[in-house]
Amino acid sequence: MQRSRSSELYEEAQKHIVGGVNSPSRSFKAVGGGAPVFMEKGQGAYFWDVDGNRYIDYLAAFGPIITGHAHPKVTEAIVQAAQNGTLYGTATEHEIRLAKVLKDAIPSMDKVRFVNSGTEAVMTTIRVARAFTGRNKIIKFAGCYHGHADLVLVAAGSGPSTLGIPDSAGIPPSIASEVITVPFNELDGLRLALERWGDEIAAVMVEPIVGNFGMVMPKPGFLEGLCQMTRDAGALVIYDEVISAFRFHHGSAQTFSAFPDQDAIRPDLTALGKIIGGGLPIGAYGGRADLMAMIAPLGPAYQAGTMAGNPASVLAGLACLDVLREPGVYERMETQAIRLVNGLQASADRYGVPLTINRIAGAFSTHFCGHPVTNYEEAQGSDGERFARFFRLMLDRGIYLAPSKYEAWFLTTAHSDADIEETLDAAELSFREMSK
Ligand code: PLP
Repeated sequence: MQRSRSSELYEEAQKHIVGGVNSPSRSFKAVGGGAPVFMEKGQGAYFWDVDGNRYIDYLAAFGPIITGHAHPKVTEAIVQAAQNGTLYGTATEHEIRLAKVLKDAIPSMDKVRFVNSGTEAVMTTIRVARAFTGRNKIIKFAGCYHGHADLVLVAAGSGPSTLGIPDSAGIPPSIASEVITVPFNELDGLRLALERWGDEIAAVMVEPIVGNFGMVMPKPGFLEGLCQMTRDAGALVIYDEVISAFRFHHGSAQTFSAFPDQDAIRPDLTALGKIIGGGLPIGAYGGRADLMAMIAPLGPAYQAGTMAGNPASVLAGLACLDVLREPGVYERMETQAIRLVNGLQASADRYGVPLTINRIAGAFSTHFCGHPVTNYEEAQGSDGERFARFFRLMLDRGIYLAPSKYEAWFLTTAHSDADIEETLDAAELSFREMSK
C-alpha cells in the first residue's frame, strides 16, 4: 500500500506541530516509527487517507465514534447546531436534555456538569472530592489512564506507557506525592494504602471496566470491596467512565448487567466523555447532589468553561445516544466482536502466535502473550514488537488498529458482516506471515 502523501505531510507537520501530531497516541512511535497515516475522510466503518487508501476503522477515534463516521443523524444535529450558532455563552435547553439522558442511564448522578474533555471531567471530580472531604491524597490503579491532569499522570496506562513515559516530566514531586498507585484487580494493595494513609485520602479513582491496558473486567467482588473499603475510610469513590459509558450498553459500567449488585458498586462521582459528545469535544461529571453542590455557583469549588455545554457537542451527543437506543445495536456489535475474536484467535493458534484476547461486549483487546491479562503488569508482559508487526501487516491490508499494544478494538454500529470477513482474511494472512 502506497502512502507517499502521508509521508510528505508528516515531514511538513513536524516543522509546525510538535512531533507532527496533536496527541501522542496518534504517533507511530510504538509501532516501528515513521509517518502516521493522515486521514482525509470518514464514512461509516471506513476512513480514507490522503493517498486514497481505504481502511476499516477499529480505532473509532479511541472510542467516541460508536455510530461510525458521519452517521446521518449525528451529522444532521451538527448541521442544525451550525445553522443556529455554535456558541452563545448562555444556558440552553439542549443541555438539560442531555443531562436528563445521562442521569436516566446512570442513576448515581443526581446532578451533572458539562466540560470539554475527559481530562477536565476527571480533574474536577478530584477537586470536588478534596473540597468535600478536606483531604488531599487520591489512590489510583496502575495502568488506568485518567487524562493528562498532573495528579493522575502517574503509572498512567495506554498513552504514556506506549511511549515509555508512565510518569510524566513536569509534575512537581509535591503533586506526585499526593497520589498513591496500587494494582488493579486485587484488594490487598488498596487495603494497605488505606490503612497507611486512610484519613488523608479524598478519593479512590478507578476505571470500573478498564480500557487503558487493554479491556479488563474487574474480578468478581473487586468493585464491591473497593467501594466498601473506600467508604469505611471516609473517602469517596470516583469512577472514570470516559471510555466505558455507553460503550457496552445504553448506560455505563456501574449499570452493566455483568454486575449483579449495583448498589454495592455505586460510586459517589462519575467522569464521562468520548461517546456522549457523538464525536465532538465533550466531558461531563456528576454524582451525589450534596457533592455536586460543592461546585460554583452553588459552592466554593470553582470550575468553569467557555465552551462547556456548547450546542454543537450537546446536540451531537444527544443524536448519538439516540441512535444507540435503537433496538439491537449493542447486541449486533457484540455478535460481530465475538465473530472477530473467535476468528482472530483461531488464526493466531493456527500459526502458533501466542495471543490472549479480552472481550467485553463490542470491544476487545489483543495481547501478544500466552498468559491472561487481568492487571497492568500482565498487560506489560505482552510482546510489543509482535504487536507492532501485526499492526503494520494489518495496516497494509487496509485494517486500522490503534497504534499501541494497550489500546482496544472498538466495533461500531456501522461495521458490516463483510467488514468482519475482510478483517479476518487480513488477520489470517498477517498471522501466517508472522509465523515465518
Ligand atoms: N479517562 C479515560 C478512561 C480515558 O480513556 C481518557 C482518554 O482516553 C480520558 C479520561 C481523558 O479524556 P480526554 O482525552 O477527552 O481528555
